[in-house]
Amino acid sequence: MLRVGLTGGIGSGKSTVARRLVQRGAVLVDADALAREVVAAGTDGLAEVVEAFGPDVLGPDGELDRPALAGVVFGDDTARARLNGIIHPRVRGRTEELIAAAPPDAVLVQDIPLLVEAGMAAHFALVLVVHADVEERVRRLVELRGMPEADARARIAVQAGDEQRRAAADVWLDNSGDQDALRAAVDELWDTRLVPFEENLRSRRAVRGGAPRLVEPDPGWAAEGARLAARVAAAAGERGRGASHTGSTSVPGLVAKDVIDLQLGVESLADADALRDALQDAGFPHRPDIVADNPKPEGSAPWPKRCHQSADPGRVVHLHVREVGSPGWRYALLFRDWMRADPAARDEYAALKRALADRHRDDPDAGGYAEAKEPWFDAALPRAEEWAAATGWVPVP
Ligand code: ADP
Repeated sequence: MLRVGLTGGIGSGKSTVARRLVQRGAVLVDADALAREVVAAGTDGLAEVVEAFGPDVLGPDGELDRPALAGVVFGDDTARARLNGIIHPRVRGRTEELIAAAPPDAVLVQDIPLLVEAGMAAHFALVLVVHADVEERVRRLVELRGMPEADARARIAVQAGDEQRRAAADVWLDNSGDQDALRAAVDELWDTRLVPFEENLRSRRAVRGGAPRLVEPDPGWAAEGARLAARVAAAAGERGRGASHTGSTSVPGLVAKDVIDLQLGVESLADADALRDALQDAGFPHRPDIVADNPKPEGSAPWPKRCHQSADPGRVVHLHVREVGSPGWRYALLFRDWMRADPAARDEYAALKRALADRHRDDPDAGGYAEAKEPWFDAALPRAEEWAAATGWVPVP
């Protein structure tokens, strides 16, 4: 099962996207619909609301009188918290039931208007954000949904802004065009990313990076690394000891393969093994064939680790799980920090990469390329250590 979080500002086209995904075969869990369902007429949820806020919030038809309730909780944080305390646990319970009832090969889409505001993004294997400019959203809400303009603007004002949503988005679906363009974009996403992602997850198959193809440094890598590290940390829970973006894409300005390397610290490799399924469910299948790093310098015993890689065909990720304080854990942080601090060293490494990537162009899995870089790393290690000693560097994940 692939769990997708779907969000976007009001009027962005989220429900339209959700409907198309359902037509293509997704299982939808609609948070707004559940929030209404758990306080529908005759439910124990509604009984609790009436008990908390008095009989005036009940309409003559036995349904919740929403405007009356809104009047009671408006501007009263205690009352709002009390209401949320009734509704949220019930929505969570229903969500869990629906997830449990979904088939094991489902692409499960959770439509959650306030996903970003509620800090839930890291709990999905993929976050899909639907975007349209504020003015276009106001226009649609007023013209197509009959909302008074002031209401539309007031609702937009209390939601997250584009920057926050962009930081949470694995997929940014631009809905500035017409509905046909939106449908085509959703269909392409379904066919080329969601369906293969789900298949990869179910069969525990990682996406391979393939031959070494260097790309120019992407200013978006840092945000992507942070987002993916947060997902890994959420999956690891209490067993995690810090997840961070490492490797070449974590160094601004460094040419790199388009791979996000992540390091998850753990107390012991037994903990890493205990985390295997949680990491797999979060979108990162285990690579049982990769059990160690090459030691630096060469010749000493290999540095044991666990390795997971992304199942998302839209993003290659190498997730290295290492013991906190082990040489491999320390080394990943040392090289990142040294390269960030020393542009000359970074550029020297970039030049080497360009030469080697060219030479190993036809190398199917980049193994020869990686091996050919080792001597440079061995030679560079004393310089990195000198820098660490001179600056009083300590490893911080
Ligand atoms: P949300 O669920 O994000 O609030 P909706 O999917 O309900 O947004 O879309 C808001 C309104 O805009 C709806 O009436 C919808 O039919 C319409 N709409 C969605 N996408 C487009 C589009 N690309 N062009 C024109 N109208 C659109």
